Amino acid sequence: MTKTPLQRMISVVVPAYNEEENLPVLVHRLMTVLEPYESYEILIVDDGSSDQTRHVLRQLSRAYPVVRFLSFSRNFGHQMALRAGYDHARGDAVICLDADLQHPPELIPTLIDKWQEGYDVVYTVRQPDPKLSWFKRTSSRKFYSMLRNVSGLDIEDGAADFRLLDRKVINTLKQFKENDLFLRGAISWVGFRQCRILYQPAARYAGRSKYSLRKMMQLAAMGITSFSTKPLYMSVLLGFGMSLFALLFGAEATYEYFFTDATVSGWTTLVVLSVLIGGVQFIMIGIIGVYLGKTFVEVKNRPAYIIGDTDEIDETTTWVQP
Ligand code: UDP
Ligand code: MG
Repeated sequence: MTKTPLQRMISVVVPAYNEEENLPVLVHRLMTVLEPYESYEILIVDDGSSDQTRHVLRQLSRAYPVVRFLSFSRNFGHQMALRAGYDHARGDAVICLDADLQHPPELIPTLIDKWQEGYDVVYTVRQPDPKLSWFKRTSSRKFYSMLRNVSGLDIEDGAADFRLLDRKVINTLKQFKENDLFLRGAISWVGFRQCRILYQPAARYAGRSKYSLRKMMQLAAMGITSFSTKPLYMSVLLGFGMSLFALLFGAEATYEYFFTDATVSGWTTLVVLSVLIGGVQFIMIGIIGVYLGKTFVEVKNRPAYIIGDTDEIDETTTWVQP
C-alpha cells in the first residue's frame, strides 16, 4: 500500500477502564486503519482497572512499538483519563475514542482528511441509535438541552468523546488548571475552526458499560458547575418571588384585619413578617452567590481570550493572565 504523504504525527488516545477483552481487537483495528500514515502512536490510558487491562497493555506495548500506555493508580474517571492522554500525547493531531469499539476506528481517515483541510477541531455526533436504551437516549437529550440553557455553550445532542484536536487546541486545553474540567464544554468554549461529522455507533464489543448511573450524574453535575454559575443566583429570584408574595399577602391580611373579623389577633403580623424575612434572606444568599460565582470564575483562571491565528507569531496561542 502506498503511504499517504503526511509528515505530521497522529496520536490516538484511548481511555480504558476494565477493557481487557476489547484492547487487543481495538489495537489491531487501529493499526490497520493507521497503517497508511507515516507516523502515529496509540496511547492507552488505563484508568485504574481492576482486571487484566494493565497486563494486556504491557504485552501490546512490547509487541508493537507504536503502542504506549499510562496506568492510573486508581480509578479517576473517564474525563481524567482523557486529560492524561491529551497531556502525554505527542502528535500534531490527537484523536480520542472509546476502548469498546463503539466509536468506529474506520472513521479516523475522515477525521484526518478534515484536519488536513484546515479544521482544528473535528468532532463527531452520533446518529440516534435505536438500540440504545430509552433511558440513556432521553437522559442524554435532556442533559444537553439543560446544559445549553444554563451555560450558553453550544453542545449538540449526542456529542461524543470521539474527536480530533489539532496540537494548538491541545496546548490550549493544557492551560486549563481547574481539576474538574468538563472536556466537551471546554472544547466548545475554546473556539477555533470546528467541523462536525455524523457517525453510526456500533454495539459495545465486549464487557459492560463502565458508566454507572452515579458516574453519569457526576458527569452531568460537573458539566453544569464547571461552565455555569447560574444555579448560585437562583436564590435571588426565589427571594424576589417570596418578597413579592409577602407584599401581596400582607396587603390581603391587612385588608382582612381592618374590614373583616375573621383573623386571630397577632396572626397577620406573624405571617407577613415570616414570609418577608424568608424573602430577604433568599435575596442575601443570592448576593453571596453572585460574589461566590465571581470568585469561582476568577479562581479557575482561564485565559481571558484565545488567539487562533495571526500573521505575526508562529505560536498560535497567546495567554493573557489577569
Ligand atoms: N472509562 C474510563 N473510566 C471510567 C469509565 C469509563 O476510562 O471510570 C472509559 C471506558 O473504558 C470506555 C469509555 O470510557 O473506553 C466510555 O465508557 P463506556 O463505554 O463504559 O460508556 P458508554 O459507552 O456506555 O456511555
Ligand atoms: Mg461505550
